[in-house]
Amino acid sequence: MEDFVSESDSEYTSYWRDWFISSRGNEYFCEIDEDYLTDRFNLTGINADVTYYQYALDLVTDVFDLDCDDDMRETIEKSARHLYGLVHARYIVTTRGLTKMLEKYKKAEFGKCPRVNCHSHPLLPMGLSDVHSVKPVKLFCARCEDMYNPKSSRHATIDGAYFGTSFHNIIFQVYPALVPAKSIERYAPLVYGFKVHAAAALERWQNAKRDEMRRRLRRLEMDTGFQGDDEDDHDDDDDDDADDQEDDRPRVETEGQGQLRQHQQQQQQQQHHLEMDAMVDITAGNHASRPGAFAPQ
Ligand SMILES: [Zn+2]
Repeated sequence: MEDFVSESDSEYTSYWRDWFISSRGNEYFCEIDEDYLTDRFNLTGINADVTYYQYALDLVTDVFDLDCDDDMRETIEKSARHLYGLVHARYIVTTRGLTKMLEKYKKAEFGKCPRVNCHSHPLLPMGLSDVHSVKPVKLFCARCEDMYNPKSSRHATIDGAYFGTSFHNIIFQVYPALVPAKSIERYAPLVYGFKVHAAAALERWQNAKRDEMRRRLRRLEMDTGFQGDDEDDHDDDDDDDADDQEDDRPRVETEGQGQLRQHQQQQQQQQHHLEMDAMVDITAGNHASRPGAFAPQ
């Protein structure tokens, strides 16, 4: 404390923010530049949302010198935190702010995606509303493009408006190289090793749609964003069923390839029958063998 007092003004003024950033539970916040905080233009309209606005701003910028009791001090302290959060949402979409948040993102300071197929992809904080006190902060994964609740209860209560609804999207527009490659990996529900029919049918349909879109994009020479699409310039997708119908180029097959193809088709048909059987089994009968599975609520 004494160190700060004895040092120059600029170091002294970083004190409250230093304390705020390093407090437990505030790990998602980056430090707002003093220049940004002292430019009134950046704070336009915020005064209406913050009680004791001027005192709070003085506290944040370390020029607070009001002699007041503890209750008042606590109220102003609370206002200062709220003010900082509101300014933070504006600051993190500026060039400087984006750079600071990018550093934190690279170190995965906001956590990692819990989804297995995202392979611990780093998350970004996001708000569901730009209006304060509406929704707490969520975490966005750019790989699965889904959002998650923060793990820690300290983070789960932070106001989402302190990050806003745009930051996590703007950062990928400013740094397009950061957009992760889309993965075609997905979970397929199995019952004793057999695909569950309804889910499998949906997956086949979704895969066909996705591949159709990828083909269209590639025909237009647009980036599909999927992993490995840059390398292969013709279709060699995992599922052959949609593939074979579209491809009308004459295929030259050796005898071995032909046999292999026939064998694969037979296997596919068998798999399909097994799925159908499993479906019939599960929906039509054998309720007793799966107690509770389809019991009415
Ligand atoms: Zn994810």
